[in-house]
Amino acid sequence: MASTAPPRVLTVAGSDSGGGAGIQADLKAMLALGVHGMSVITAVTAQNSLGVQGYWELPAEAVRAQFRSVVDDIGVQAVKTGMLASVELVETVAELLAGVDAPVVVDPVGVSKHGDALLVAEAVATVREKLLPVATLATPNLHEVTQLTGLAVEDESQMLDAAKALVDLGPRWALVKGGHLPGEAADLLYGGPDEVHWFRAPRYDNRHTHGTGCTLASAIAAGLAKGEPLPLAVASAKEYITGAIAGGFALGAGIGPVDHAW
Ligand code: PLP
Repeated sequence: MASTAPPRVLTVAGSDSGGGAGIQADLKAMLALGVHGMSVITAVTAQNSLGVQGYWELPAEAVRAQFRSVVDDIGVQAVKTGMLASVELVETVAELLAGVDAPVVVDPVGVSKHGDALLVAEAVATVREKLLPVATLATPNLHEVTQLTGLAVEDESQMLDAAKALVDLGPRWALVKGGHLPGEAADLLYGGPDEVHWFRAPRYDNRHTHGTGCTLASAIAAGLAKGEPLPLAVASAKEYITGAIAGGFALGAGIGPVDHAW
């Protein structure tokens, strides 16, 4: 007898051969959170604990075909985007997402923790102009929110203005992640004057945090697919990523992954 299908979540992102970030992190987080994960691969990275040694993006046609295969037959209850690499792929994905009736979580991935670019510089404007307007939620870190809004964020008091400026660019909600500031890991969710939510977690003394952003965005998408209201989906995802960071482990000679299976 067939079981009942779990909610379906699609990640549109890059492959991380090391298994800690990108598509691999997304699918592991989705499995851990009880949803059916599916993938549209935008680029293949050669990557390990030391960084990204190279990447190859897929043709727009291949991205479009993967997307149509999944959406037209299986259907999606939430979508998450990550590494999109080029102007052409950002444009393609934005166009595809405009026709989807499901919440879209955009992780505006720019540069990896090791400082390797995962999006060409010219594509930042395309993310701003084409992708953010189709997002339900955008989840930038401080570097990314500055790139997108032009506003520098040097302490928590500047996070609200940055979140408002981001929402002015199109997404219904913005989650500005303050994890790079000293002290507690504080993230700010903004969805209008009556929707200001802070999420705080202790900072763990653990450098094995590869894949944090991908995992958080996927966990939020999983919550949305299960029907959680957005602030609750962010709260659940924050709890999951906090445990995953606490359990991050050493692999290879560099920065290891968060623990998706905690
Ligand atoms: N590799 C890929 C394919 C990604 O999508 C991401 C996501 O941001 C990263 C690497 C970066 O991971 P991190 O900055 O957590 O090391």
